[in-house]
Amino acid sequence: LLACRGVRKLFGDHVVLDGLDFDVAEHEVVALIGASGSGKSTLLRCVNLLEELDDGTIHLDGEHITDPRADPDKVRQRIGIVFQAYNLFPHMTVLENVVLAPVRVHGMPRQAARDLALEWLGRVGLAEKAGAYPDRLSGGQQQRVAIVRALVNSPRLLLLDEVTSALDPELVGEVLSMIRDLKSDGVTMVLATHEMGFARQVADRVCFLDGGRVLEQGPPEKVFAEPVEARTRQFLGRII
Ligand code: ATP
Ligand code: MG
Repeated sequence: LLACRGVRKLFGDHVVLDGLDFDVAEHEVVALIGASGSGKSTLLRCVNLLEELDDGTIHLDGEHITDPRADPDKVRQRIGIVFQAYNLFPHMTVLENVVLAPVRVHGMPRQAARDLALEWLGRVGLAEKAGAYPDRLSGGQQQRVAIVRALVNSPRLLLLDEVTSALDPELVGEVLSMIRDLKSDGVTMVLATHEMGFARQVADRVCFLDGGRVLEQGPPEKVFAEPVEARTRQFLGRII
């Protein structure tokens, strides 16, 4: 579904991604792990065309999306992204937040967008919050709304960047359980995370980023239990 080849990204003369190859299959859930600054967020931003590549290509469903002629809005309709801080618009209700992009950006009829939004909010147990403003919601609820907002466009791929790290520990669980439900619904996801326990539970594959590349990857039980690379062992040894 997603194929990154030789992806290179520099900030000034700092090489963040150094000829990185990365693939995601349909219905797969991939966890990106690695030290702070290893380029996890940068990779997600490159995939969503929020950063321009210095070299390499990214294909989505066989289509070359980093081609300068590709339309970034069209691509982003197919790739949802949710960040650490749940950037909901504070002056809009939950429902308005969710229907905004499908209606304004993607031209979905308003009624259809509302129906879809309410269906999704219901599925994640937030139907009764549709008319509420974000400041009336807990952090976990806000983050779930942010994920719903990405899902109403029916993206082919959902990118989640540290979606639980701004939350109080007792609110992390509800977001993680939502992600687990999405996985059983077959949603393809790439999640950058520092939560190794969660990566281990939910991911089909774990990718360890180091030196601007995927240094090691495999099923979580393998990467966590018997990492091959010394750098992976060192990283896991430090945080587990
Ligand atoms: P963390 O685990 O802390 O979220 P990360 O793996 O997501 O880290 P990135 O945010 O991708 O790391 O950052 C990779 C490197 O690129 C860091 O050294 C960072 O300082 C640098 N960087 C990221 N964005 C920019 C930017 N817009 N301008 C300059 N440097 C940047
Ligand atoms: Mg990051």
